[in-house]
Amino acid sequence: MFSQNDIETYQKQSPILKKIIEKQPILWLNPNLKSASELNATSLNMQSINEAEQLWQRFAPFLKKEFPETLETGGIIESPLANIANMKDAMREKYSSQIDGDSYLKCDNELSIAGSIKARGGFYEVLHHAETLAIEAGLITKDENYEVFSSPEFKSFFQQYSIGVGSTGNLGLSIGIMSAKLGFTVSVYMSRDAKQWKKNLLRDKGVNVYEFEGDFSEAITAGREKTIADPKGYFVDDESSKHLFLGYSTAALRLKKQLDEKDIKVNPENPLFVYLPCGVGGAPGGITFGLKQVFGDSVHCFFVEPVHSPAVLIGLVTGEMEKVSVQDFGLDTKTEADGLAVGRPSQFASSISDQLVSGIYTVEDPTLFQLLTLLADNEKIYLEPSATAGLVGPGVIAQSDYMKDHSINSANVTHIAWATGGGLVPEEEMEGFYRKGKNGGK
Ligand SMILES: *Cc1c(COP(=O)(O)O)cnc(C)c1O
Repeated sequence: MFSQNDIETYQKQSPILKKIIEKQPILWLNPNLKSASELNATSLNMQSINEAEQLWQRFAPFLKKEFPETLETGGIIESPLANIANMKDAMREKYSSQIDGDSYLKCDNELSIAGSIKARGGFYEVLHHAETLAIEAGLITKDENYEVFSSPEFKSFFQQYSIGVGSTGNLGLSIGIMSAKLGFTVSVYMSRDAKQWKKNLLRDKGVNVYEFEGDFSEAITAGREKTIADPKGYFVDDESSKHLFLGYSTAALRLKKQLDEKDIKVNPENPLFVYLPCGVGGAPGGITFGLKQVFGDSVHCFFVEPVHSPAVLIGLVTGEMEKVSVQDFGLDTKTEADGLAVGRPSQFASSISDQLVSGIYTVEDPTLFQLLTLLADNEKIYLEPSATAGLVGPGVIAQSDYMKDHSINSANVTHIAWATGGGLVPEEEMEGFYRKGKNGGK
């Protein structure tokens, strides 16, 4: 068990913990940051990312067939990179923060089908599992046309298998929608405070939704037990999944292509700064891993967490990773940023992020709503509260010594705030978010 003594020991080691416990917005710069070339061996590398990308390509005919919204992109699910110069000006006025360099938004709220970053990790893991089962059963080889995954034979084959996931929302949506489409028997385990519209949407698609008292970790634990009790059950484990991580990592290849198309250079003199909203750390960790493989030390990645649930921050600052939770430090995970409301980091992702993330900053909920409204007013882009957290990154970093310490000329930086979701939020709900932001976000 965790005691007051332990907390004091950690605080002596890392004085910044005092402010974290007091829920002050802070920036922590990672003392363990390694150069891309001195990264300790992990089980993953550039080849793993390329292989993951090939899986997406194999499934493109299936996705095109089952989800007409992906016709235009040939069954590839990818989001636009938008210049947000108007937002940058508006932020300068509102927060009197002068940001050098260009500002972009990676619009994962527009990812088709799931409307959030979970389309990357969640879909990937379900498709990977389906492929593995189909190959083992001799139903298909990797050279064949995967459109057959939408045939009645395949769907009735998958019916005997079950998939489970514990989720605060978006992961449940992505796993539920894709699993149900393939024919799996799928169950989503949610905490009771998960939004009603998400539960309804899933039930409409034939997904079993179970609700649990208590927080997200309890939903995960219960879901894991129930799922693996079935010999043909497969649990998507947000707290340790390597497949989710790999699914996210392929975003780096796509982003490289988009930057090339826009003739945006990324090199040591023209670095890329990326700001990623962080829950358990799988999505931001996977994307950071991918970006570091593609751009090396020319990319600098920062995570952002709510002051009430800085799970990855506390894991990295103490060095204890998934062995400690924010609750151990007296924090409650209460935030309107549902995608980020987790108490404990992913084990798999944290061990890698520990070496790759440049730093982590925290934000207060009212800021998220203010940004949501400001972005809607200036760019006509509508995000969910979690997804706006990256927007303050450039201002936060500008106030630190980071640029100076890394000999970076801030005028040459390209900033990308990763907008992680919002595409499926019902209009009424979004209007509520917008009004709240107009009123200061309190
Ligand atoms: C899940 C999620 C994140 C963070 O992803 P993790 O893998 O939990 O770190 C960020 N934003 C939104 C909207 C999400 O749904």
